[in-house]
Amino acid sequence: MRVCIIGGGLAGCEVAYKIAQNGFAVDMYEMRPIKQTPAHLTDYLAEIVCSNSFGAKSIKTASGLLKKEMKLLGSLVISVAKTCVVPAGRALAIDRTLFAKNITQIIEQHPNINIIRKEMKKLPVNYDLVVISSGPLTSQDLENEILNITGKENLYFYDAIAPHIITQSVDFSKGFFANRYEEGLDYFNCVLSKEEYEEFYNALVKAECVAYKDFEKPRFFEGCMPVEELAKRGFNTLCFGPMKPVGLAKHGFKPYAVVQLRKENASGTILSMVGFQTKLTYKEQITVFRLIPALKNAEFAKLGSMHRNTYLQSQHLLTPYLNLKSMPNIFFAGQITGVEGYIASAASGLFVGINISRLLKDMNLISLPPNTMLGGLINYISQPKDTLQPMGPNFGLIETPFPKLEKAKRALKSMFDFCKSNDLF
Ligand code: FAD
Repeated sequence: MRVCIIGGGLAGCEVAYKIAQNGFAVDMYEMRPIKQTPAHLTDYLAEIVCSNSFGAKSIKTASGLLKKEMKLLGSLVISVAKTCVVPAGRALAIDRTLFAKNITQIIEQHPNINIIRKEMKKLPVNYDLVVISSGPLTSQDLENEILNITGKENLYFYDAIAPHIITQSVDFSKGFFANRYEEGLDYFNCVLSKEEYEEFYNALVKAECVAYKDFEKPRFFEGCMPVEELAKRGFNTLCFGPMKPVGLAKHGFKPYAVVQLRKENASGTILSMVGFQTKLTYKEQITVFRLIPALKNAEFAKLGSMHRNTYLQSQHLLTPYLNLKSMPNIFFAGQITGVEGYIASAASGLFVGINISRLLKDMNLISLPPNTMLGGLINYISQPKDTLQPMGPNFGLIETPFPKLEKAKRALKSMFDFCKSNDLF
């Protein structure tokens, strides 16, 4: 069977390496340097475009746990990262040039990998299996091709992400459950008095925002306007928008303002702040949103952001193995699947690489244990939900009731057993 990978980024390299290490040949198409993305600067594969940090090392953190799981699964990215470390306290930071150079060398020198420097504008027809790992800055022509397959409503070009909160960290005594205008208890309404709103508002309008890059010029639609932009229109604008206290009076409550939280996953371990997409810096988001009384001790599963990002509504399109339901020979990997960040993108590539290797060995496709960080993440993007917002590792994805460290220990044990029983060591 002929296999090709489109995009030699973090995910594409993991997929290629895993397949090649299993003894199968693969063609990898990478458009750089013939055509650059607006963020990449070199012709190296697996180029890191922004921060040089791969996140925390400790398994007490979600990112640290994911990296440990990837190590068990035989990740190329993790093993090369370990050879390029720069001091960064508790974080795994790398020398970005050395990292990309080393990965490029390994991929280029691998006898089973053939790199072709070419922009793929259409899906190739002369391959049995195709992996699309063209990333958040997929070229325009390929985007159009994907659009033809997925339909306009299932390919997003822009993130407008509201913060997600670990449910366990919310103070439920500072609000009430009620739906606006209708019966039901789907929303938790965090209550603010006039004084609390005033303090929150003043902090919000003064808070620092992330600057837009040239290729990310804001294209706000009224429906996904950053909350701080709305606030700057006037003191009470939010009270007529996402913080409106209306529709709740019939429940006997008359707060000055509310922030609504809604379940992000079926088990309700993660909640999102409805209508709170934001460009505030991460630091400011933590400070400002913790002024909402119910969120005083909030732990954020992910913080809000708005930037260019091509990604699928995978929950509608992909199977739990990340291939298209409608065209099972086409797989997706990396940020385009709706996972977020360097490490989660590489991890999804590793998962796809494992499964494609199995197909090539004439074996069935497999899922990861759901109590692992990577298993939880893949489940999250592929399970039914109305809208998928990109997601990185966080403990809310492991839907068991244990404290973090216990979740982490159990996840590593499950991943170890999984690797052993599937001959992955
Ligand atoms: P990429 O690493 O982007 O790889 C995709 C590859 O596909 C690229 O090499 C591209 O050239 C190639 N390609 C695209 N179209 C085609 C085509 N038609 N034919 C052939 N090749 C093609 N994540 C973090 O964790 N921390 C950060 O600080 C951070 N900052 C970011 C800043 C910006 C501006 C952007 C855009 C993203 C940032 N991210 C960050 C996200 C991070 O870059 C991605 O999570 C990660 O790189 C995704 O890996 P990937 O393999 O899916 O895509």
